[in-house]
Amino acid sequence: MTDYTEQIESCTECDKCREICPICVVSDKEVYSPDNKIKLLTKVENNEPLDKDELDSIYLCTRCKACDDVCSSNIDITGIIQYERSLIAKQGREPQKTSHISNNISTKYNPKGLDNEGRIASWVTEDLEFSDDPSLAYMAGCWVAFKNIGIAQDTIRILNSCGIKPKILSEELCCGLFLIDNGHMDEAKELAKKYTLYVESQGVKRLLVSCPSCYGVLKNVYPTLYREPKYEVVHALEFFKDLYDEGKIQFNKESGTVMVKDACPMVAMYDIPRELLGKIGFKFTEPFNKERFCCGAPAGVKPNYPEIANKIAAVSFDKAGDSDKIVTYCPFCLHHFDGVKEEMNINTPVEDISHIIWEAMKK
Ligand code: SF4
Ligand code: SF4
Repeated sequence: MTDYTEQIESCTECDKCREICPICVVSDKEVYSPDNKIKLLTKVENNEPLDKDELDSIYLCTRCKACDDVCSSNIDITGIIQYERSLIAKQGREPQKTSHISNNISTKYNPKGLDNEGRIASWVTEDLEFSDDPSLAYMAGCWVAFKNIGIAQDTIRILNSCGIKPKILSEELCCGLFLIDNGHMDEAKELAKKYTLYVESQGVKRLLVSCPSCYGVLKNVYPTLYREPKYEVVHALEFFKDLYDEGKIQFNKESGTVMVKDACPMVAMYDIPRELLGKIGFKFTEPFNKERFCCGAPAGVKPNYPEIANKIAAVSFDKAGDSDKIVTYCPFCLHHFDGVKEEMNINTPVEDISHIIWEAMKK
């Protein structure tokens, strides 16, 4: 009996995971619940046929970890789903889009399979100042470099206005979260080693990242896939807070009510965006009571099940109610929400916190 089998048998069917899972919030299919996802493990381990709903159930998970937070039996639900996916990939029956994106990351170092050399040129403009000093390097991440370049540009503008000129990593790579979420562990380990050695070869002491996924992967997962890096990983939110606390940035007052869309990998930092936005003068609607509620897109849910991913995002827009805007600090949430706004004709503005901070500093 494996450890996972024992864990699955300890499920008390308390339903706590079902109440919080974003997939269950938008779908009432019994088989999609977190407890039923993990109960498919025996079938997967035995390479037994899975019907469509069962296979969908295993891939209908953003690995947001909300279920892990509440499980009364302390079951590693997301670890079991990752393991199921690793077996299914080896058995050659994972969704085709998942294989395609994984292959792009392993061979082209970004999910879309774009020319990776273009990722720096896409957003580095002449007004932004950099240096070769490796004490602080900046990593934009795929969803900033290829989709939301304004996040990188406003982040560098904030730093430059404080006299800070970070180093650019000309050979930046995808962090590999998608590989990890989908159980492609050999490829993820190879990527963790390659990227860690590259960043260290540049002499970097602190690596500043804009993406919560890059943050969580480089800081918490790479040490398990390869080893502890010789540099510190810092998210832009904590960096901005330090600059504010040191009196290096000041805000002009603004008013309005915002809903903060929190990023799943950054539970421990949920107070920081509220503190910074509160200093600017914003008030908050808190429909999620600072509990994780995923945007609905990660880990392959958006490419494989766009309708469900969009329905989950629509919950956030609905809950935002009369908020003047939704504030994100995850480029993937922003990318997904922008797409949903267009598809569903929603008018609520969605802005990244780096843009709001830079605008509040400028006036
Ligand atoms: S990780 Fe998130 S999406 Fe996946 S089963 Fe748990 S709560 Fe649901
Ligand atoms: S929260 Fe844990 S114990 Fe409760 S139903 Fe879900 S998996 Fe089972």
